[in-house]
Amino acid sequence: MAASFHPPQRTLMGPGPSDVNPRILEAMSRPTIGHLDPAFIGLMDDVKAKLQYVFKTNNTLTLPISAPGSAGMEACFVNLLSCGDTAIVCQNGVFGGRMKENIERCGAKAVMVEDEWGTPVSIDKVAEAIANHPEAVALCFVHAETSTGVRSDAATLCEMAREAGMLSIVDTVTGLAGIDVSVDEWGADAVYSGTQKCLSCVPGLSPVTFSPKAVEHIQNRQQKVQSWFLDMNLVMGYWGGEGKRAYHHTAPINALYALHEALCIVEEEGLEASWARHALHHRALVAGLEAMGLSMQVAAEYRLPQLNAVNIPEGADDAAVRAALLNDYSLEIGAGLGSLAGKVWRIGLMGHAANHKNVLLCLHALESVLRAQGVAVQSGAIDAANGVYHTE
Ligand SMILES: *Cc1c(COP(=O)(O)O)cnc(C)c1O
Repeated sequence: MAASFHPPQRTLMGPGPSDVNPRILEAMSRPTIGHLDPAFIGLMDDVKAKLQYVFKTNNTLTLPISAPGSAGMEACFVNLLSCGDTAIVCQNGVFGGRMKENIERCGAKAVMVEDEWGTPVSIDKVAEAIANHPEAVALCFVHAETSTGVRSDAATLCEMAREAGMLSIVDTVTGLAGIDVSVDEWGADAVYSGTQKCLSCVPGLSPVTFSPKAVEHIQNRQQKVQSWFLDMNLVMGYWGGEGKRAYHHTAPINALYALHEALCIVEEEGLEASWARHALHHRALVAGLEAMGLSMQVAAEYRLPQLNAVNIPEGADDAAVRAALLNDYSLEIGAGLGSLAGKVWRIGLMGHAANHKNVLLCLHALESVLRAQGVAVQSGAIDAANGVYHTE
């Protein structure tokens, strides 16, 4: 007999996916209609307008790519770079390394600017790379590094690219709706994000936005974009504003209902209020972790509220602790990646999951699991977190 799949009910406090608001799951279960149905075209227009709001942009070419964040990343690279180009890539974690991979697969050359994991992109090193590589067509960096929990200075980096006559390519997969992402104010040229982090939507879509300068660059390319599916010249024919929409691929209809609902939720709360909520719960979580005697990996001024890298205390068994959290509390937190594997846990406070109840659950669960496994931790985590809530 065929058996349906019924997933366990989890609390998702890792690096994504984050807990999905039930309203979004309900929206997703509404009837599927055709992707050229006039009613659906109306939904697409509304999704574009709402994405412009969360990205803080007037860019006409703002839409969700029909695939996860990695596809949005790839869309930016294959459309802006041609074979033989040079691009400067800042790497201070896992995702800068993926940018390098994309650049090389475009037949372009990646000039690396590397920084220690857990620190932001160094402005001085970038200035040096720009001076040494005036031939570079793009400066690429990750705004919110999910592998380390670090925020880099997107406004300054985009300005440096613009002044050097280069395009900027920015990863805001984890940034969007969690912290300030101001595409127009930054003057960013190609920006991609994901649905399953601070938008708290189901995974599988990647909002992207391209500046008028980037669009001109794409329309005037000499070489065809190497990816047929991600060629924005073709995608524009379906998602474009004017006239008749041409079939390109079948849009993920129900996933777009979900994204639309997620964007409605952000609009209702207000973007600034959403950033403030992430910041508040982050302060409470950190107060609790520090009261327990744990320490944070990243210096306070560069911390992302939505991704908290906490150092694994001495004597704790990384995998055993995460397994106990999952089995006993149905709570998922993230492991360290790359050079931080085995050294940190990554606690996400993303979107719907950034709330009072989750902060207290996580602190309580972590404290009791660590104690049960013989790791000495101080008491008072819950009081410290509540102290933040009560004074603010
Ligand atoms: C999650 C993430 C991605 C990749 O997104 P997927 O949806 O997993 O493909 C890219 N960059 C950053 C910074 C991320 O956090």
